[in-house]
Amino acid sequence: MARVLVVEDEPRIASFVSRALSADGLAVDEAHDGVRALDMARTGAYELIVLDLLLPGMDGESVLKGVLESRPDQPVLVLSALSDVESRVRCLELGAADFLTKPFAIVELLARVHARLRAPGSEGARTVLRAGRLSLDLVRREADAGGGSVALSAREASVLAALVRRPGQVVSRQLLLSEVWGYSFDPGTNVADVYVGRLRSKLGPDLIETVRHAGYRLLPP
Ligand code: CA
Repeated sequence: MARVLVVEDEPRIASFVSRALSADGLAVDEAHDGVRALDMARTGAYELIVLDLLLPGMDGESVLKGVLESRPDQPVLVLSALSDVESRVRCLELGAADFLTKPFAIVELLARVHARLRAPGSEGARTVLRAGRLSLDLVRREADAGGGSVALSAREASVLAALVRRPGQVVSRQLLLSEVWGYSFDPGTNVADVYVGRLRSKLGPDLIETVRHAGYRLLPP
């Protein structure tokens, strides 16, 4: 079982990310400040470190620098806010393996984590989801419902992934929103309907059924 260290000081985000990674079959440890994170990371026990940049004690960039000094090959996936363009560049120059901006869709984080881990069997098995003749490649962000490969945006892929993971089941808007938009959604939003509409226009009108007052259901082709 691959071990992942999640470094994040906001309890809600830390537990959200940890739960998703654990549910996906990974062994997860958490660190909530930079000093502790660096301590844990230096043991080298982790196949991947998911590192938030804004941390108490020691900031994420210093943690990244410290980790890579003692373990130059350690894959680190940095999480940060959209405005941190300069730190994004600095982190990648320092040697971060990947960078994901907050807020992020949990399925995108999972796809990138698995792409980084490159564990035999895990990448292919988990980044390509299937239901009937429908396939969804989360890394390439392409879906094929039988009519050929179609490019999707990150959010479109995330919405479709939430449905493909539950073929034939009704998925509520609430669940869709919390899974795709994570901790950042407004419960009154109609954004899920908008994305379902886009998926229908790209992949066919009958792929996703609207279940009145309940949500959506994928009807695998
Ligand atoms: Ca933080």
